[in-house]
Amino acid sequence: MSLDKSRDLYNKARTLLPGGVSSPVRAIKPYPFYTESASGSKIKDIDGNEYIDYCLAYGPNILGHANPTIKQAIISQLEKGWLYGTPTELEVNLAEKIAGLYPSIDMLRFVSTGTEATMSALRAARGFTGKNKFIKIEGGFHGAHDAVLVKAGSGATTLGKPDSLGIPEDFTKNTLQVPFNDIEALTQVIENNQDDLAALIMEPVMGNIGPVLPKGDYLKDVRKVTEENDVVLIFDEVITGFRLAMGGAQEYFGVTPDMTTLGKIIGGGLPIGVFGGMKEIIEMVAPSGSVYQAGTFSGSPASVAAGLTVLDILKKEEVHKKLDATGSMMRNRLSEIVADMGLDYNVVGIASMFKIFFGDKPLNYQDVLKCDKEGYLKFFFKMLESGVFVPPSQFETNFISTAHTEDDIEKTLLAYEANLK
Ligand SMILES: *Cc1c(COP(=O)(O)O)cnc(C)c1O
Repeated sequence: MSLDKSRDLYNKARTLLPGGVSSPVRAIKPYPFYTESASGSKIKDIDGNEYIDYCLAYGPNILGHANPTIKQAIISQLEKGWLYGTPTELEVNLAEKIAGLYPSIDMLRFVSTGTEATMSALRAARGFTGKNKFIKIEGGFHGAHDAVLVKAGSGATTLGKPDSLGIPEDFTKNTLQVPFNDIEALTQVIENNQDDLAALIMEPVMGNIGPVLPKGDYLKDVRKVTEENDVVLIFDEVITGFRLAMGGAQEYFGVTPDMTTLGKIIGGGLPIGVFGGMKEIIEMVAPSGSVYQAGTFSGSPASVAAGLTVLDILKKEEVHKKLDATGSMMRNRLSEIVADMGLDYNVVGIASMFKIFFGDKPLNYQDVLKCDKEGYLKFFFKMLESGVFVPPSQFETNFISTAHTEDDIEKTLLAYEANLK
């Protein structure tokens, strides 16, 4: 397999873009492949190699790359102009559909990224409660804004320390952390900080370190303890929204938070973010209330048109039923492969998400950190050589799209079998 053109381009890119990329996860070492085009389940690089893609832009492309119906919706919108700076009927229609699907959402605001969605959701929760602190789950990813860039906590009750230079410790001193799947730790942190605690933000399924799944009644218990203590519960469903079900993880698990953030899938591959929740909270957002939030590209017509089309297709074609079946089959077959080889690896996943952990089945961030990251990277390159693009990190989830054919899946399983050896 030749990657000469990608290598040369990367050497140039490194002088212009930090790490040669526009977002860190793309900086595959020693150099990433540069994409020439993508269609359906396949992504093609500038050296002419083609891969079956399980990254799928890290979540948005649930219908595969360049879905023709979405493409047509975007083109139709482009014909009418693509940025107005005025309200549109499109955004009202999409808001109505989302509110109909997510019981936690009475009202919402469109933004341009998931990062903006969680940043604004936290601001609204703090504005609503008049309190400053919030809790996040260790290893939970909510985008790249200051207050949430606190990952590797050293215990349930320690104050957050930023993960990045350039973030004053003052900016994260109100960020508390607890491990996932540990209701006692959460209860204790809530009780200890009750006088100034605004919110808990969490991914109901931890999509950015795995997936790592909630155990037993964990999410129901989280709902109970937050409700009893007047802590605003924010589900960050930027990955799980429209992925686990039309109504996201909250529909799948039957647990309704107070606020929800969405992104990725609902833009049909164009930039979007959404934060929504109870009327009392979202009405506090400007201009109807005093929590300020604004954006030039918010409710961008092409993104919203693409989002409306995605929703139509997901519903009409009963996409989740089919994808869940493919996901189960994939997990079962992979588990068989792992068992046959006598490897102490674990296949984890839900709906159309899956991952092989090179280690024990994790319940939280600390567990995931114990997996064989270097071994995984070696495996990643072997998969690439076999024509399969899985995420270049033990911490990122594999996604399946409707564009993946039976033939793709069989080829992928053969590649897993060959390369796990
Ligand atoms: C991707 C992601 C974000 C950030 O979204 P961007 O659009 O990349 O800013 C936030 N939360 C979760 C759970 C995500 O997976």
